[in-house]
Amino acid sequence: MKMKSRPTCVGQASMERIRSIPHHDYLTDLPNRVGAHDCLDEALTRARRRFSKVAVLSLDLDRFHLINETLGFLFGDLLLQSISERLKGILSEGDSVARVGDDEFVMILAHITEAEEAVKTAQKVREELSGPHRLKDHQIMTVDFRITASIGIALSSLNGDEAETLLKNANSAMMWAKREGGDCYHFYTAEMNAAILERLTLESGLRDALQRNELFLEYQPQLDLMTGKIVCVEALARWNYPGIGVIPPSRFIPLAEEMGLIGLLGQRVLETACVQNKKWQWAGLPPIRVAINLSAYQLQQKSLVETVKRVLKETGVNPADLEFEITETIMMQNIEATIATLFELKEMGIRIAMDDFGTGYSSLTYLRRFPIDVLKMDRSFLVDTSGKQDSMAIIIGMIDLARRLKLRVVAEGVETETQLDSLRLHGCDAIQGFLFSSPLPADDVTKLLRGISGDSRKCRK
Ligand code: C2E
Ligand code: MG
Ligand code: MG
Repeated sequence: MKMKSRPTCVGQASMERIRSIPHHDYLTDLPNRVGAHDCLDEALTRARRRFSKVAVLSLDLDRFHLINETLGFLFGDLLLQSISERLKGILSEGDSVARVGDDEFVMILAHITEAEEAVKTAQKVREELSGPHRLKDHQIMTVDFRITASIGIALSSLNGDEAETLLKNANSAMMWAKREGGDCYHFYTAEMNAAILERLTLESGLRDALQRNELFLEYQPQLDLMTGKIVCVEALARWNYPGIGVIPPSRFIPLAEEMGLIGLLGQRVLETACVQNKKWQWAGLPPIRVAINLSAYQLQQKSLVETVKRVLKETGVNPADLEFEITETIMMQNIEATIATLFELKEMGIRIAMDDFGTGYSSLTYLRRFPIDVLKMDRSFLVDTSGKQDSMAIIIGMIDLARRLKLRVVAEGVETETQLDSLRLHGCDAIQGFLFSSPLPADDVTKLLRGISGDSRKCRK
């Protein structure tokens, strides 16, 4: 790829110097981390003389690992080159951009008088990156790729005077932006460091927990309202972090996604849940399905179907005893490929449930195209159904819709007798929720299935 000769640090002389010493990134022709430090030192010295400020923008690409994993490293490299060209195009005279990590960049804005100028640049970066990147390999393949970034901003004098501090604080602000879901920018604030420290602790803890197999599963039964029997249990991942306590999946699943660990985590969940289901069968208990939540990443993996086949073969679980729960929002990503994968799973005999139904943005047209068997109504519709006619009307509508589409309908988060009575009255097929049972360790499910728990109304919160 041809590189522009525009200076990226402080003029051509500096650029030559950067190229000649190991301060330079060969892939993008930009300064590297050491080079960024030098550029920032120079910019700070000049700003002090001029009584102006320097802004540091720390940029991290969102889910960059996906491109390497799905399209290969060549396309990953091409994307990084395309991004560095666009970032260079945004610079004003005297500004710099450096590549400081795999998918991390730092921009140094050398003459800032107001924070607003840094915001404008951050917005420009978002615009520039979001346009499709046309990537071509040596052969025939061309891919149009869109990417977003998380951006953290630190300002000299306000957030530090030294290069090291400013780079660190911009990085903390970037991690904050990432925590908010990415594709946004954040200014550094002093409180961020404590929160970032906590996150870093969680990150390393999660890595260790996976290596040491410290994550475990609980199973939440679903009660069939026609037969009064448990027909399915949903496997829910749990992490008891030594010294910190139980971390909810809503915190560690997104973290695992960002860290590229969700593939491994998902595979462990699948294996453990299948082995457990086989144990229940060996114990002579009535066959039940085990439902597993799939993440967006797992669904996009080409290897998903092969992995599922392997696990079913190794554990001897009947595909009819396995169900995958996929949220509406995840199903709507990369729709055609998702439909193809779901059909493959369905043809194997596995059931597909649309999870948290009613909270995403799915078009009803797609309900017919997705090969789904089960609609799981999100629990938000059940909240205070006794008092709210609107919520009840939506629930009745969803049950009716499911019936007409010949889908099984399950209500999530059933907590009260009133809710149960209404659901029964309107023909809901099954319920899941604290009223019947909270998620339980496998041994407690065994007792429940044997009917010796004695209390099927158990509420364990
Ligand atoms: P979900 O799949 O919708 O799971 C149901 C969540 O609702 C569970 O939260 C469950 O404990 C909670 N719940 C069940 N009954 C009630 C109730 O009556 N009232 C209330 N207030 N809550 C109830 P949990 O275990 O914290 O899981 C949260 C989410 O994390 C799950 O939502 C699922 O999306 C995700 N998750 C859990 N395990 C996994 C996993 O192994 N892989 C993936 N990809 N996601 C998982
Ligand atoms: Mg679920
Ligand atoms: Mg759900």
